[in-house]
Amino acid sequence: MDWKVIDHLSKKDSFFVAGRGFGGLAIAYFLKKKHPSKKVYLFDPHPLGHSASAAASGLLEPIGGRLAVRSPLASEGLMLSKYLLDKVSHFLGKKVYLEGGVVHAPIDQSQESIFKKKAEDYPDWFSWTKDKELLVREGVNVFSKTYLEGLFSLVKSMGVEFYQTSVPIDPEIKMIFLCVGASIQEMLPDAFRLTRGQAMRVKKLETTFSLPKVCRGYVALDLDPSIYHLGSTYERTNLHLPPDKTMAVKELKERNRDIYPEIDEVEVVEMRSGVRVFCKDEKRLPRILQIAPNQVALAGFGSKGLLYHALFAKKIVDDYST
Ligand SMILES: Cc1cc2nc3c(=O)[nH]c(=O)nc-3n(C[C@H](O)[C@H](O)[C@H](O)COP(=O)(O)OP(=O)(O)OC[C@H]3O[C@@H](n4cnc5c(N)ncnc54)[C@H](O)[C@@H]3O)c2cc1C
Repeated sequence: MDWKVIDHLSKKDSFFVAGRGFGGLAIAYFLKKKHPSKKVYLFDPHPLGHSASAAASGLLEPIGGRLAVRSPLASEGLMLSKYLLDKVSHFLGKKVYLEGGVVHAPIDQSQESIFKKKAEDYPDWFSWTKDKELLVREGVNVFSKTYLEGLFSLVKSMGVEFYQTSVPIDPEIKMIFLCVGASIQEMLPDAFRLTRGQAMRVKKLETTFSLPKVCRGYVALDLDPSIYHLGSTYERTNLHLPPDKTMAVKELKERNRDIYPEIDEVEVVEMRSGVRVFCKDEKRLPRILQIAPNQVALAGFGSKGLLYHALFAKKIVDDYST
C-alpha cells in the first residue's frame, strides 16, 4: 500500500470503495447519486481488464440451471441492471446491450420436455420456438467489456476519484465498501467457494446467431459483429496455477459443438479468464457482510454478476451510507 498516495484524502466524511468490477463500480455509482456533495474514492490495484467482470461473456438472465428455474429477486435485478445499462448507453452514446432474449437449446429429451412445459406454464416469460428451443424473453446480451469501461468512465464523470492501489484500511475512514471479487477469500475464508471460468472470443464463421444461445456451453454476441464469445469452463482445482488455455480451448470446443458445428475451424482471437465467487449457502444470492464497524463487503455474485450487481450495490448503499 502506497500510503503517500492517499494521505491527502479526507477520511471522516467520505466513502471508500474497493474493486472496479461490476459490483464496485455500481456501488460507486449509487453512492455518488445518493450523496452528490460527498467524496467517493474508488480503489483497485489492477488494470480494468483484470477482474472477473472483464472476463464475463455478457449473458444477463433471470433463470438458472438445468430446470430453468427463475432466480430469486430476478425481476428486481433485471430492472436495476437495465437502469444502469441504460445510463451507460446514454453516457457513451451507443447501446451496450442487445434485447430480444436468450435461446436455450435442450441438451436431451428430458430437458426438452422440461423447457416445453416451462413455455406452456409461463407464457409471459418464455416462448417455445419452431426449432424446439426455449426463448427466455427477458434475457439480455450485454457487451460486457464496453459496459464495464463505460460504467467506469460514467462514475468518474460524476466525480468519483479513482486510485490504482489497494483500498486503505483505516479506522478513521467513515465507511469502506469492499467488492473485491475472489480476494474476499482472504478476508472471509469460509463463506465462499471459488470457481475459475475461461471463455474465448472467436472470429465468426458462417453460422450466424441473431440472439445468444445456451446449451452445454454458450455463444454470446459482441458489439463487434464479427466476434462471438464462447463459454465457459468451471474449474474448481488448481486455482493457484495460471489458467491452462490449451485445456480450456479443447473443453470449450466440446461444449459448443452441438450449437456451433463449425467450432473446429474457428480462429480464437482471445482467451479471457476470471474467478467466480459463489456463496456456500443454498440461497443463490450474493451476500452483504459487515466485517468491521467501518467495513462492509458485497460478494458472491457467482455466474449472475450482471443480474445482481446493480440491485445489491443499491441495497448496500441504502443500508450502509448515511
Ligand atoms: C469466463 C467468465 C464468464 C462469465 N460470464 C458471465 C455472464 O455471461 N453473465 C454474468 O452475469 N456473469 C458472468 N460471469 C460472472 C461475473 O463475471 C461475476 O459474477 C462478476 O464479474 C463479479 O463481479 P465483482 O465486482 O464481484 O468482482 P470482480 O469483477 O472480480 O472485481 C473485483 C475487483 O476487486 C479488485 N480488488 C481485489 N482486492 C482489492 C483491494 N484490496 N482493494 C481494491 N480492489 C481490490 C480486483 O482487482 C478486481 O478488479 C462470468 C465469469 C467468468 C469468469
